[in-house]
Amino acid sequence: MSATATLDDVAQAGGTEHFDVLIVGAGISGVGAAYHLQQQCPERSFVVLDKFDGFGGTWHWHKYPGIRSDSDLYTFGYRFKPWTGAPIATADEILKYMGEVIDDNDLGRHIRYHHEVGSASWSTTDNRWTITATETGTDRTHTFTANFLWMCQGYYKFEQGHTPEWPGMDTYRGQIVHPQTWPEDLDYAGKEILVIGSGATTATIVPAMAGAAKHITVLQRSPTYFWTGRNANELADTLRELEIDETWIHEIVRRKLLHDQQAVTQLARDEPEFLKTELLNNIKTFLPEGYDVDTHFTPKYRPWQQRLAFVPDGDLFEGIKAGKATMVTDEIETFTETGVRLKSGRELSADLVITATGFHLSVLGGIPFSIDGTPVDFHDTVTYRGMMFTGVPNMLWVFGYFRASWTLRADLISDFTCRLLHHMDELGVQRVTPKLRAEDADMPISSWIDPDNFNPNYLMRSMHLMPQRGDKPEWQHTQDYWTEKDALPAADLDDGCLVYE
Ligand SMILES: Cc1cc2nc3c(=O)[nH]c(=O)nc-3n(C[C@H](O)[C@H](O)[C@H](O)COP(=O)(O)OP(=O)(O)OC[C@H]3O[C@@H](n4cnc5c(N)ncnc54)[C@H](O)[C@@H]3O)c2cc1C
Repeated sequence: MSATATLDDVAQAGGTEHFDVLIVGAGISGVGAAYHLQQQCPERSFVVLDKFDGFGGTWHWHKYPGIRSDSDLYTFGYRFKPWTGAPIATADEILKYMGEVIDDNDLGRHIRYHHEVGSASWSTTDNRWTITATETGTDRTHTFTANFLWMCQGYYKFEQGHTPEWPGMDTYRGQIVHPQTWPEDLDYAGKEILVIGSGATTATIVPAMAGAAKHITVLQRSPTYFWTGRNANELADTLRELEIDETWIHEIVRRKLLHDQQAVTQLARDEPEFLKTELLNNIKTFLPEGYDVDTHFTPKYRPWQQRLAFVPDGDLFEGIKAGKATMVTDEIETFTETGVRLKSGRELSADLVITATGFHLSVLGGIPFSIDGTPVDFHDTVTYRGMMFTGVPNMLWVFGYFRASWTLRADLISDFTCRLLHHMDELGVQRVTPKLRAEDADMPISSWIDPDNFNPNYLMRSMHLMPQRGDKPEWQHTQDYWTEKDALPAADLDDGCLVYE
């Protein structure tokens, strides 16, 4: 069936639509998957389903003030579409960029919005997935079948952020808001605001609100590493002055940034104390003389055990210096009617509390999967290179990097998927299923990620839901772009990890 002409016709007739590939999610991963599939496997029919009313995923959903990337867009952007703006971009700029990818490549005709996938069932007899999707806001259900399922549904629950339960919350008379579910009409002008948490969201929201708010207090249990720099790229600016083609600029600047990021990642591993000192010295230059950096900005963990939060132009620290924002490092004992009381006994009053306390991990969108009628518990599976799962046929999941831009991995996984689809054609098979080899029988199996390597709270809270890993590169999500950029394209599709039938 052609992917273009018959979608609506068949849906209206209440029939089941079949596609070679079904992509779940039209965020940066899903749109990238659609682009690569169209380029590298033009013979395959495909559809992209998304529950939202537009593309962009994370960048479509979040509405809090100042929402922006904390990665540079030369590497967070796709490798195939030059980024021409400032490195750190707002959600609107990212959406504009993605919109151009969709329009320039005529991908819109493949995307179906308002389609919430509710189940995915594999039939070995038919070698197909059956996917049901409900039209958002209605009870109309659509059924699709697909030979291959490409899961690009992200990694966290959109509708509900993580807010810890503190005693006395119900007695607080002000408003409590999580940045993930930001009321678009929220008026914070002239208000005394308490922001709980000190990650990338706080680093964004505080400078964005500081101008209108009366004052902002940032309350953190423990500090985060920040790094700062100008929101500009000198190399890109110079190349533009020389009137170099944007395609070249994108590639050259990407390579330079990735080269520099690799050096920092290596430094974090080999000389963490040196890197720590460098990071702290950098932020000291923005803070007032004698500021208590030890208490408020010196984390207990090694740099890069959690994501480093980037502060363009040091804007967060400018707010602190100007007295518009104050850091408090302490723990909440209880909410009161007017704010919070801390374990130290100190009271903080606030008209508005913002809980920038993270999100809930969502494994494969929480969609119930089954294979021949048996529900899949992903925790019982072992991951094949952080993108497929033992015993689960014809399905790939995009989970990007934490220490490098997410999209770098989305591009790599797209190449891998297209290569795998071609390989299946060459072999004349319908099914590919990761399976531990005889030589893997005694391999130690452990949780998805080594907490000593990377340990943000949202991951640690949900390890029991995630697939597991082995101790060989084939059975791990390594989080190392610099190894994977060579390893994934070279991965031997016939090394026995993938069983073809
Ligand atoms: C505020 C914020 C800032 C971030 N900044 C960066 C950054 O600067 N750099 C970086 O590398 N990473 C960043 N990240 C991580 C970021 O989420 C990813 O980089 C990236 O945007 C994820 O893209 P994605 O397409 O994989 O998933 P998402 O953006 O999460 O999109 C998933 C899509 O799938 C759809 N979907 C989900 N479930 C279903 C279903 N059941 N049925 C149908 N559709 C479904 C959703 O509607 C959504 O459109 C940030 C995350 C957040 C929350």
